[in-house]
Amino acid sequence: MARILFLIVLIALLYFIAKRFIAFLNAKQDPPTNPAAKAKDENIVQCTLCGTHIPESESMVLDTKRVCKQQPCKHPV
Ligand SMILES: [Zn+2]
Repeated sequence: MARILFLIVLIALLYFIAKRFIAFLNAKQDPPTNPAAKAKDENIVQCTLCGTHIPESESMVLDTKRVCKQQPCKHPV
C-alpha cells in the first residue's frame, strides 16, 4: 500500500515539475512585450515638475519643459 502511495506522489511531483518546466520554456521563448522591456529602447527624459525619469513617449512638452503626459503628475514630488 505504501508503495502505491509513493508512486502516486512521485507521479504528481513529476507532473508538477514538468508543468513548471514547460511554463518556464514558454516564458523564455516569448518576445519581450512588456512595457519595461519596450522602455529600454526609448529615450529616458526627466520631468521638470516632479523630477521623475520617464520614457519619452510618456512625456510631453509644456512651455519648453518636459513634463509627464498625465497632468497633474502621477508621481509624488
Ligand atoms: Zn511629472
